[in-house]
Amino acid sequence: MSVTCTLQSHSQSQCQNHSTNTVKKFRNYEHEKVQTMAGSRMNKRLFVILLIFLVICCLGWVRLLFILTSYDLEPRHVPVSQLVAFSTRVDHDHDWYHSVCFRGIEHELSISTLDDFIEKWAVAYTNTECSDMYNTFSSIYSVSRRSGQLIIPETFQTKLLRWLGNDEELLKEAKLQFITSIYNKYTHEHTLLNPLRAKRPGVNDLEDIDEYMEDLVKKSEKNCDFCDYKYKTAEDTFGRIESDLSATAANAFKMDGFHALVILKNQHDPRLITEELFLDAMHVSMKWFMKVYDTDKQYRYPHMIWDSLPKASASQIHPHAQITLSPVRHYGGIEHFRKAAIKYGRENHGKNYFTDLIKIHNALGLTVTLGNASALAYLTPKKDNDVMILSKTPCQDFFRLVYYTLRAFMDLKLYAWSMAMFLPKLEPYSTPDYDDIPAIARIVTRGPPSSSRSDVGAMELFSINNVNVDPFAVVQTLKDSVEKLGYPHSALQDAQAQKQALQQQILELQQKQLELDKQVQQQEQQAPIQQQQQPQQQPLQLQQLQQDGREGPRIQAADAIVAQDAPEDGKRKPEGNGVAADEMKNLS
Ligand SMILES: [Zn+2]
Ligand SMILES: [Zn+2]
Repeated sequence: MSVTCTLQSHSQSQCQNHSTNTVKKFRNYEHEKVQTMAGSRMNKRLFVILLIFLVICCLGWVRLLFILTSYDLEPRHVPVSQLVAFSTRVDHDHDWYHSVCFRGIEHELSISTLDDFIEKWAVAYTNTECSDMYNTFSSIYSVSRRSGQLIIPETFQTKLLRWLGNDEELLKEAKLQFITSIYNKYTHEHTLLNPLRAKRPGVNDLEDIDEYMEDLVKKSEKNCDFCDYKYKTAEDTFGRIESDLSATAANAFKMDGFHALVILKNQHDPRLITEELFLDAMHVSMKWFMKVYDTDKQYRYPHMIWDSLPKASASQIHPHAQITLSPVRHYGGIEHFRKAAIKYGRENHGKNYFTDLIKIHNALGLTVTLGNASALAYLTPKKDNDVMILSKTPCQDFFRLVYYTLRAFMDLKLYAWSMAMFLPKLEPYSTPDYDDIPAIARIVTRGPPSSSRSDVGAMELFSINNVNVDPFAVVQTLKDSVEKLGYPHSALQDAQAQKQALQQQILELQQKQLELDKQVQQQEQQAPIQQQQQPQQQPLQLQQLQQDGREGPRIQAADAIVAQDAPEDGKRKPEGNGVAADEMKNLS
């Protein structure tokens, strides 16, 4: 570095001073330089620390990424062993939901208004139990509504109108149709419902049904194999299981290792199956299941199928069910259900799928209960009048409810029906495990028996279900049947109950009268001056008495409703004492 001094601008002394300053500055600079060299060493150290820090940071991020990718971010699933066992119990009946949850949003619930109703239910937060039930519903079902428009040319309109019974309103409906789609997210059952399709020609043709049935029964009776089952059917290696009313026969063309028929002994006419006959056939079937299981312990998954009339693909007119047992697992269709139920339980805090299915149908008013069994007008029907009956075990209530359902449809002349029963595996005999199915029965009707047209096509076989009978109408049919057959009242019982109610009312009124008499006496004694006003008060009190008298029965009616609820629970037999277990005891 060089230092310059110009004489022009500075005197010599100034110049000397300047050079002294410059030297000082130079020294300072040298000093700074030494300091800077020390600083660069510091920077290096800082750089190394920073580098180490960065490496640690990077490693941290890599580790975090590793954890994130390896960690199950799906919601935690409940272990299978913690799934809740099945029960038919519900906390509230439909009336409770009707008055607490659905107040103002439920008007004549039907399949056509279901979508609209569900939308309102989603935002009607009146009670936590209501929103809990909505959440249960929406975790299983997805409901939507689609519309389809039609342009009907004049040439076709007359014909269409005739199909629709010359109903102009229905013709309007036909021009803009609404289809409800119900999808079960766990079982993947999917049904499209359009009640207008039920009005198509030939769908509900039951006019000549009696004549057709009469003819069919008479003709088939002549050479019936099952009327003469002892000589015209095969036997199992262990023989037949028999009662006074029914008997088993080995199926000549087996579907599975053990495949038998249960035949009603003395009844050829399927229209005349009585409760007694049906229950007997069920008991004989249960005995057969246990006999097979005793013969070969591998076979422990019981199934029953019963088709009535050729329209429902029955080979013989004579009433008969087919019973089979499978080893390893339930048949595929029901195994799919069982797996879906387990998946539901694991994803929904261990809740039981079948219990929740009952709860949902119950909340919507789609169930009928008989003791330990519940019948559901199924929300995703496979065919018309699809009813699912559930119970913990194949108990008496279960079989009775199945019969009352069949009887309800037969009373509507729907003699062609298909019924299937799937029971919990035969071990541990009485109640199903948490991962097994309860006792399940499915019933559908198969249309007019005389119709030559099949009710099953490519749609049902391969794609989706299309059903046109509203489950909300089905449940009414069921209720009527169970009310009539399940709880029979004799005229004497009714009269006695009425008499008792009246006696109670009379007693209450007499008591009230005595109290009022006392009051009148007291008032007369206390205020003799007011005696003139007494006649005015008397009618008032009499009026009150009359009013109270009128209230009597009303209060009693309310009490009766409460009392009705109470013994219903009391009537419930302890669950788990199923017939299967009983039969097993009988056999051993
Ligand atoms: Zn209601
Ligand atoms: Zn016969």
